[in-house]
Order: sequence, then structure tokens, then C-alpha cells
Amino acid sequence: MESRKEDNYFHQLGKLRRKPLAIAGPCSAESREQVMDTARQLKELQVDIFRAGVWKPRSKPGTFEGVGLEGMAWLQEVRHEFGLPVATEVAKPQHIEFALKHNIDVLWIGARTTVNPFAVQELAEALRGTQVPVMVKNPVNPDLALWAGAIERLWAVGVTDVAAIHRGFSSYEPSQYRNIPLWQIPVQLKAQYPNLPMIVDPSHIGGKPELIYPLSQKALDLDFDGVMIETHPNPKAALSDAEQQITPAVLGDILARLQVRSMPD
Ligand code: PEP
Ligand code: MN
Repeated sequence: MESRKEDNYFHQLGKLRRKPLAIAGPCSAESREQVMDTARQLKELQVDIFRAGVWKPRSKPGTFEGVGLEGMAWLQEVRHEFGLPVATEVAKPQHIEFALKHNIDVLWIGARTTVNPFAVQELAEALRGTQVPVMVKNPVNPDLALWAGAIERLWAVGVTDVAAIHRGFSSYEPSQYRNIPLWQIPVQLKAQYPNLPMIVDPSHIGGKPELIYPLSQKALDLDFDGVMIETHPNPKAALSDAEQQITPAVLGDILARLQVRSMPD
């Protein structure tokens, strides 16, 4: 069941600050130093949730696939040292087991997992009886029912703190975007589930730094609840998604420029 707004973890976090919910951090956790350095700077920017992938779903084998379990300890350190809630991607029940054991605050299901109802159902079963908040990215293909279905599978096992993340959709056509936004899809999902927090991921939609601000502002104008932005102390040297990550300083400028024209109640 869809939770009430006043009970939802994500709505409450955003509301406390009377600003859009800000989730930021590197695409991938790469080293303890990189994770701690980024988190220290994001804490100063009053980011709400620190994100970092430790198990990375890469298109091609032979590329960096994440640091795995080792990264859990770094996220725990961020939590402990800066009091920042931490989030990571889970794609297998075993990831959930590790994440829960390490007190990861928030989990997310990636676009390549949301496409697969078997996989989502397995994750939902692993989450049954837990209270951990979960963010569900849209599937890579533009299929509203598949996205809604993944969210419903979580509600059905009693996970009520759910949010949706709009990260755009794959397309083979040339485009200025890495993943085309097709805004009508998240807007329809919002209409279907008015209490579901909706977060935009302009990093994966745009694929380049200069699109992050306009995509974020567009989402806020469509009454989205927050942003998730990939942030790295040295984007050019990032081991994944180097072209789209921005420094904490650039993130700070973007967050300061964003305007909420309609505040959540
Ligand atoms: C990510 O957030 O780094 C990621 C892999 O995203 P997506 O599932 O949207 O491709
Ligand atoms: Mn990424």
C-alpha cells in the first residue's frame, strides 16, 4: 500500500528543510578517501542522503564493477562521522543482506533491475518485514506499468517508505540526452500515486554537467520532490560515469540556484 505523505521517510526529510530533498555522492565508491572526502563536502552543503554504488551494473564486462563489500565499511563510516544517511544500489538478495547488516539507511533498485519482475520480486521478498526505505529507478525502457509494478511489489511486502527516481529512458536515436526524459511517464506515475515521492536523477538523464541544472529545475517545476546528483571530488578521474559527475562546489552552486515554485505541504 502507498504510504501517507506524513508517514513517508522521503517526504519527511525534504519537509524538515523546506527545500527539495537533495541526494548526492559519487556514482561509485572507489576508495575510503574518495568516499570520506566527498561526504565531508556534501555534509557542508546540507545534502540529505549520501549515495554511492558499491555493486555496479556495467554494460560491458572488464570495466570497473564496484568495490563490493569493502565499500560497506566506508558508508558506515560516513554515517558515523557525519551523521549523514547513506544509500546504495542493491540488485540481488545478497546485496540486501549485506546492506542491512551494515546499517545502510536507504537502498535503491537500479534501472537494469526494475525491468525484471523476477528480480524485483526476489528483492521484495528479501525486504519483507524490514522498514528500510527504498528508491525505485524507472526501468531502462519507457514502460510505466513496469515501473509502477516494481513499486507495488515493495508495497505488497510491507515496505512503505518507497520513492521513485526518474533517470530517463534508453533510446538508440541520437539525442542531447544520455537517457531521454519523456517527462509524461513520471508525471503519469505521480498522478497514479499522488503520495509517492518523485526524485529526478539529472546526471543519468543528461549525461553531462551542463544539463544537470536545467533538468533539475524542470523537475521541480513539475512538482518533483527532490534531486539525486552524482558528485565526485575529481570527476575526470572517476572510475564510472566520469562524463556526468560534478564536484561538490558545482553541486553547491546548482542547489543554491534551484527554485521551488510550489512547496510540498
Ligand atoms: C547509478 O545510479 O549509478 C546507476 C547505475 O544508475 P541507473 O540504474 O539509473 O543506470
Ligand atoms: Mn552512475
